[in-house]
Amino acid sequence: MGRYGVMGGTFDPIHLGHLVAAQAALHEFELDAVYFVPSGQPPHKRHVTDGEHRYVMTLLATAANPRFYTSRVEIDRVGYSYTYDTILYLRQEFNSDEIYFITGADVISHLHTWYRYRELLQVCHFVAATRPGFAFDDALQSSSLTAAEVERISFLEVPSLAISSTDIRQRVRDGRPIKYLVPSAVENYIYKHALYRSGE
Ligand code: NAP
Repeated sequence: MGRYGVMGGTFDPIHLGHLVAAQAALHEFELDAVYFVPSGQPPHKRHVTDGEHRYVMTLLATAANPRFYTSRVEIDRVGYSYTYDTILYLRQEFNSDEIYFITGADVISHLHTWYRYRELLQVCHFVAATRPGFAFDDALQSSSLTAAEVERISFLEVPSLAISSTDIRQRVRDGRPIKYLVPSAVENYIYKHALYRSGE
């Protein structure tokens, strides 16, 4: 038993905003540990960097924190993994029904399109990490969730989420610095493997 955070994202690449958000959730919800789960290849999405690269960068970024772990559960599945399946699997692995799924608040407005979203909200709490100034009410209104479902969602304001993976990829393409936006091991990995040099 225990209380666990599951940090879901594409992490292409992982950056300091993600790490600060996970640490804030750990503190705020008194979690025992946070498991970072890089997603499999999402359907209908821009070209996403190979899962193995995203996994290694996430591992490098989380390795030094004794309460952070990185899971291969989604990148090892063939095709896309649904959050619902991942949470059910991790509830069994952890032998816990106190799971906090942490992700970006932008996803809340289309949560009602997710696979088994009603059941998902019953098997975990949602922590929606936001940049300051995020319009919670607008996101909740367009999410068409019931009042009881909305109660399962907590918003967590994280100023350093002004950093974004999209911006980091663009910076690498433009030859601008990413130092201090990602952990130095991740920065070195990006250059060593020539990631984000071209394309979206
Ligand atoms: P996204 O659309 O790439 O990201 C939406 C926004 O949220 C971006 O601003 C992103 O910033 C931010 N974000 C993403 N993950 C975050 C995190 N863990 N902490 C803080 N900010 C975060 O979303 P995505 O990465 O594809 O999906 C997020 C999670 O939702 C994943 O675990 C994915 O598997 C899950 N999901 C599940 C379903 C389903 O089950 N049907 C459908 C969609 C998404 P950055 O780009 O800087 O990260």
